[in-house]
Amino acid sequence: MQKERLYGKTFNEIKEVVASMGLPKFTAQQISDWLYKKDVNSIAEMSNLSKATRQLLEERFEIGLYPPISVSTSTDGTKKYLYSIGPGKYVEAAFIPEETRNTLCISSQVGCKMACTFCMTGHQKFHGQLSVNEILNQLRSLPEFREVSNIVYMGMGEPMDNLQEVLKSLEILTADYALAWSPKRINVSTIGVLPEVEEFIQKSKAHLAISLHSPFDDERQQLMPMQKAFPIKQVLNILRKYDWSSQRRLSFEYIVFDGLNHSERHVKELARILNGLKFRINLIRFHQIPDSPLKSSDADHILLFQQQLKNKGIITTIRASRGQDIDAACGLLSTKKLLSE
Ligand code: SF4
Repeated sequence: MQKERLYGKTFNEIKEVVASMGLPKFTAQQISDWLYKKDVNSIAEMSNLSKATRQLLEERFEIGLYPPISVSTSTDGTKKYLYSIGPGKYVEAAFIPEETRNTLCISSQVGCKMACTFCMTGHQKFHGQLSVNEILNQLRSLPEFREVSNIVYMGMGEPMDNLQEVLKSLEILTADYALAWSPKRINVSTIGVLPEVEEFIQKSKAHLAISLHSPFDDERQQLMPMQKAFPIKQVLNILRKYDWSSQRRLSFEYIVFDGLNHSERHVKELARILNGLKFRINLIRFHQIPDSPLKSSDADHILLFQQQLKNKGIITTIRASRGQDIDAACGLLSTKKLLSE
């Protein structure tokens, strides 16, 4: 019989486990501490539980940690880890060390339903949701677990399409009883799935990044077919209802494609549709994927586009390109693994 995994359970769920086994109430706090504060790898290590309690727990549960099956290391220090989620199912997590912080980019689904044309994960199609255990294991089983300072949900999958598990993972990352991270160290990226994006805004305090890539509906729809189901204008109307001026950051992700989406017309329309919001734009170099006519814009054009946006008063940053030599495009590593089987 498959054992249930403890890692990823919220405090309320741990209390339910304890109640269902007829254990004293305080055992929930002990188990939670062992899982999230003391980083144990086995139930046997929970030394303040009686031997009988540990045996009882082991009959039904395991901690549920499993290491990555491979790692590729870039010359710039970026590491891409591949986790196996079951037969023929893989997800990627990228560890990105920088001078002032170490960011981990994690996945929320195996593949993705959203079919963005520029994305290798989109080309893989959808192969399943990740449980909260499988989302958090990408952090907990990382060799650099305790060195990670920031987490971005920008790996494989659309977080809003697996919102309940993502919200649970955010609870465990930020709650005092668990990892107690500041939500300011977490950024969740979405294409703007409706209505989930609003539920996310209401139930979490993490930063939000919206994949924009074009201010024009027809052009955005060509890049992101789900624009048809979730028009960016509707997403913007929701964003306008909330306060982005203080603790919480709103950003728009913008991959700059050669000759496609960085003209003066784009600058004007971006300023127009985003007017009234407090936000920043993150310009991103495109990581080439196989069989795609899309190309990245060159550094000079990206700098010019940044300057034009700044001239409109828009805070605009350019994301450093990392891990170019190790299949940097999200989904490329797992696709290669799938093709090699
Ligand atoms: S860019 Fe994100 S939402 Fe679009 S297909 Fe890729 S993983 Fe899915």
